[in-house]
Amino acid sequence: MKSIRVLSVASEIFPLIKTGGLADVVGALPIALKAEDIDTCTLVPGYPSVLNALRVAAPVLERKPFFGGTARLLRGSHNGLDLFVLDAPHLFARPGNPYLSPEGLDWPDNGTRFAALARMAANIGLGAVPTFVPDVVHAHDWQAGLAPVHLRYSREQNPGTVMTVHNLAYQGRFPREMLSEFDLPAEAFTIDGVEYYGGISFLKGGLRLADRITTVSPTYAREIQTDEGGMGLGGLLRERVADLRGILNGIDTSVWNPGSDPHIAERYDVDHLQNRIANKAALQRRSGLEPKPDAFLLGVISRMSWQKGLDLLLDNVPVIASEGMQLVVLGTGDADLQDACRAAAHANSGKIAAFIGYDESLAHLIQAGADAIIVPSRFEPCGLTQLCALRYGAVPVVSGVGGLEDTVVDTNVIGGESETGFKFSPVTIQNLAGALRRAHATFRDKAAWYRLQQTGMSRDVSWRDRAMRYADLYREIARRRLA
Ligand code: ADP
Repeated sequence: MKSIRVLSVASEIFPLIKTGGLADVVGALPIALKAEDIDTCTLVPGYPSVLNALRVAAPVLERKPFFGGTARLLRGSHNGLDLFVLDAPHLFARPGNPYLSPEGLDWPDNGTRFAALARMAANIGLGAVPTFVPDVVHAHDWQAGLAPVHLRYSREQNPGTVMTVHNLAYQGRFPREMLSEFDLPAEAFTIDGVEYYGGISFLKGGLRLADRITTVSPTYAREIQTDEGGMGLGGLLRERVADLRGILNGIDTSVWNPGSDPHIAERYDVDHLQNRIANKAALQRRSGLEPKPDAFLLGVISRMSWQKGLDLLLDNVPVIASEGMQLVVLGTGDADLQDACRAAAHANSGKIAAFIGYDESLAHLIQAGADAIIVPSRFEPCGLTQLCALRYGAVPVVSGVGGLEDTVVDTNVIGGESETGFKFSPVTIQNLAGALRRAHATFRDKAAWYRLQQTGMSRDVSWRDRAMRYADLYREIARRRLA
């Protein structure tokens, strides 16, 4: 079988630049796909952190003018990832968060920045780099959404396209007057193109015009077809149901491996779970929590946004503090939530700790030291934190939505040999309190808790099987194109 070439297009890639799960997926999937004979090259913006990390990068194209400046396309590699980098300093030479200014606001030219990324993706798709002509262009989230649009409107021989939704809440919406600045043809401004409630939506255009759509869990694939979960795009997604599938994310099990993790106090595996005690002690020390080995220690690692439901957890602080639980929160995001977490920690010192910021290393220690990981999301396309938790023997306590529903088996499942955690729904303060109490009660039964940890750690959360499903999808599209 001929190997298939895929151009993956995204605004983040782990380990070079990451704000969330998107980067993890975009960084891990190409490696997992190698076993399937899929040859992936990923196009990412040339942010400073990306350019600095590229050891050898050769210019393969130059475009001038390109969205208001000069752009070079570089080809290089990093840790087994084959990369195209769009080196356009006028758009991307900005350190820090890829989307936000130092004041925490969206960069005003975000539309132009990611229109440029998608335009370059389409150029590569149409054969601009003769050494890498893809069979499939795979666009991730709104930032890449215009790639399938350009390819569909191009009159040239073009590759197949996949649009993956990692989070439907971010749709890339801009005023219609930007059409020509985004280098879109006038004909694209229709209901069958990028037009969306009188403006332009990059994601909507991609969802309308890509050959196939995927999202990151089967339950989220169903939820986004509803009026509530569809966030304005439910109707379109219902129309395209035949081309839509939900493929669960995996995690990079070499990065997330308690047996070799350099960030934790003591390494362990499923047969040496007693070593977690040292990690719990280290986490309590680092967080200023009371050094109690028997306290039920809850961990949260999360973006702080309405989606993630942290306000529901904060409303449960009285339960946590009065029932002998401890909580450590690591996260960054909305100022109100950050402040509320700091205040809860301040008012409950020794019981609750808050780390505001992004800290990859601390995230690992929390997974290794917390007894339970809490993910109380209002909606969650897939969620990676609970997958890491399963792998680390931290028992997940999650809301029953999206990928959380698909990856955690509640202890209430009748006859469940396969139970791995605690789920609650609908997503309310009281139901979260109930799940925390159920988890706490089980925690006191050491044998039952140990069984949960063991079952969780035996789950396959790797990319292997999930990558096969992407490989099948790519082959299907490539075959159709050749036919
Ligand atoms: P989302 O992409 O919606 O933020 P996911 O659960 O899919 O949520 O992925 C989040 C990823 O980012 C996980 O790998 C999680 O460990 C990581 N993460 C989130 N916030 C932080 C933080 N403040 N510090 C370190 N890692 C974080």
